Amino acid sequence: MARYRTSTGELVSKAYIDRMVRITKALVLSEQREEYGYNFCEECSKSSGVRLDCAHVESVDSCQKNGYADKAWDKENIKIKCRKCHQEQDGLDIRSSFSQAGAAVG
Ligand SMILES: [Zn+2]
Repeated sequence: MARYRTSTGELVSKAYIDRMVRITKALVLSEQREEYGYNFCEECSKSSGVRLDCAHVESVDSCQKNGYADKAWDKENIKIKCRKCHQEQDGLDIRSSFSQAGAAVG
């Protein structure tokens, strides 16, 4: 299995990265809920009638390739966005967001 380097020089597996990303997404959602009492899109502030995703600012793929895989599970690199804002971001940056779009579905 492929291994990816973190910013501290550690080598981690794709399975480890995926697990950490899942945990961090859940954490980001629960922290927003704790702070504001509900979840909303950080882009347009919508909370009802929208599906919320956790979108990467820099894609997991890019973090892995560039030797700082740990950025994939850095809370600062994960933003809560509604489906519409997430898709707009993907439209602007199709290549780097390819893998995260897949992750959002799963
Ligand atoms: Zn939005």
